[in-house]
Amino acid sequence: MAITVLIVEDEEKIGRFLELELMHEGYGVMKAANGREGLEKAQSGKADLVVLDVMLPELNGFEVLRRLRKNSDIPVIMLTARDEVMDKVAGLDGGADDYMTKPFAIEELLARIRLVLKKRGGAVSMAGQNKSQLGVGRLSMDVQRYEVSYDGKQVELTHREFELLRVLLENKNIVISRDTLLQKVCGYDYMGETNIIDVYVRYLRSKLDDVYQVKIIQTVRGVGYCIKDEN
Ligand code: CA
Repeated sequence: MAITVLIVEDEEKIGRFLELELMHEGYGVMKAANGREGLEKAQSGKADLVVLDVMLPELNGFEVLRRLRKNSDIPVIMLTARDEVMDKVAGLDGGADDYMTKPFAIEELLARIRLVLKKRGGAVSMAGQNKSQLGVGRLSMDVQRYEVSYDGKQVELTHREFELLRVLLENKNIVISRDTLLQKVCGYDYMGETNIIDVYVRYLRSKLDDVYQVKIIQTVRGVGYCIKDEN
């Protein structure tokens, strides 16, 4: 049975983006565009987890959470604007399971959703289970444990290196464009250097290809990157 995530977010662009990504991961999705509607849907018993924005019309996210916690312990991940440190404290004190600072990378939100669901009793979506073990050749990735190993030896990766490798492994034999990788790894409104993906690929190669004398990540000139089943 699929896990259903309720997205409470008044910014339509972000709401739609989250909906598509969550559906792609195999989650069921419900949406609410203001605090009052969000509270009603969260209390309906039809959702398994709530992604709750703080700045909302009608009722703000903290008020929604405060009222929700009177009769529900549904997992809640709060979305706060950048550097609203007090919001984070208030969110966690108010009974949120976790918080994310906007702008965020979708892969990080997905990771936190999995983590919160796991902490709350091991309920993980079918899609999540199928994708928890990834790999190619002697390279393997345990998404739940956040571990990568080659030939049984652990490889230390940074968060973004891990997420980049994860996206490539999840889409084995498919060429992924730099733009798509950028969006998946760095977030939907990343404003930094556009060649950042090339930089992370270089880091990954220095930790894998160079060490083990293999060619794991293929460059497809003018398009992007790909991990193939058989090299
Ligand atoms: Ca908002």
